[in-house]
Amino acid sequence: MRPDIRGTNEYRVPDTMQAWVLGGPEELSLVDKPVPEPGPAEVLLRVDAIAVCATDIEVLQHGRPAMIDGELPFHKNWTPGHEYMGTVVKLGPGVDEFEVGDRVTVEVHAGCGRCERCSEGMYTSCHNYGLNYGDVDKGHRANGFTTDGGFCEYQVNNINTLVSLQDEMSDEEGTLVVTAGTAMYALTELGGLVAGESVCVTGPGPIGLMAVAVAKALGAQPVILTGTRDNRLKIGLELGADHVVNIRKTPDVVAEVKKLNGGKGVDYVVECSAATSAVNDAVRMVNRGGRVCLAAFAHEEVPVDVAHIVRNNIYVYGIRGEGKSATHRAEAYMRQKRFDASKIHTHTFPLEELPTAIRYAKDRVEDAIKVVVKAKMGASQKEAAE
Ligand SMILES: [Zn+2]
Ligand SMILES: [Zn+2]
Repeated sequence: MRPDIRGTNEYRVPDTMQAWVLGGPEELSLVDKPVPEPGPAEVLLRVDAIAVCATDIEVLQHGRPAMIDGELPFHKNWTPGHEYMGTVVKLGPGVDEFEVGDRVTVEVHAGCGRCERCSEGMYTSCHNYGLNYGDVDKGHRANGFTTDGGFCEYQVNNINTLVSLQDEMSDEEGTLVVTAGTAMYALTELGGLVAGESVCVTGPGPIGLMAVAVAKALGAQPVILTGTRDNRLKIGLELGADHVVNIRKTPDVVAEVKKLNGGKGVDYVVECSAATSAVNDAVRMVNRGGRVCLAAFAHEEVPVDVAHIVRNNIYVYGIRGEGKSATHRAEAYMRQKRFDASKIHTHTFPLEELPTAIRYAKDRVEDAIKVVVKAKMGASQKEAAE
């Protein structure tokens, strides 16, 4: 909670705010926008911190997987950004689950609540995904993908996307809960991982590194991480990897992973690298009957040895987001300090410097991993000035 505004219900919400909007590909501009109004089952959040995600960079360049009005998100006065945390500053009609002043982080997807997948808890695969424009409002929202996101000062969120944060967790770490939540969803709900199973994570990006941390916290043994950068592999070791493999120095990564797992394939591979060869490597790294989760966006069609998958009864999952409330369970692990997610946070910039923050994340300037922008400095300065 924010003690300064907790329970006051008196937070003065301005009429307009600063918000980044996307023009053409990679054209961001900072504009004034009306502060949105929370509807039923929604709150207004003051966005205190937001992380730049690889998917944001994908969206800014190519549009997908964001879709606004059923089209690519260019020139729609649309605000990207989805990995944010903030403070509740206004409650929508009928909301009594949260109070003004509560600190929360968000998961991305608010399902429609009326389709088969939402009923099953798979709201990140909502059948009404993106159907919330014009006269169409099926209730689905994915802020930063199909509705306005968090690269701005205020945003509305359905209360089913909110995860309460304890005061001890920093704003920056709070933005990483959804990343850990995605790793959690990959490991437990999709992959059914149980303690003692062996895991290999390919690709030490933010989700890969969180997959290492969550797998270890869940009791996986051994946890192996493969990648090309020693500095990131070192962070993997700090987050709980038992072994790391630099594939630049190891010609046969499949053989090496098997060797590290006592001569046989692992139970589960979480593929986070998007390398063209990674899918075939992954299906060869698992043992018979093993599972593979594909968590990275490949940029081209990838050849796959289907016969090997069939012969060996291998399960392959695609993952979308952080379903089945995995984000809540990730926060519970972080609250217990089962791993230190802040190890992957490397840089913070003010909201006005978003393009610099994106460049750092995209080009890995100064070995950047997770880059966070914070609007709060600006917001609190303004409050003080008023
Ligand atoms: Zn993301
Ligand atoms: Zn749905």
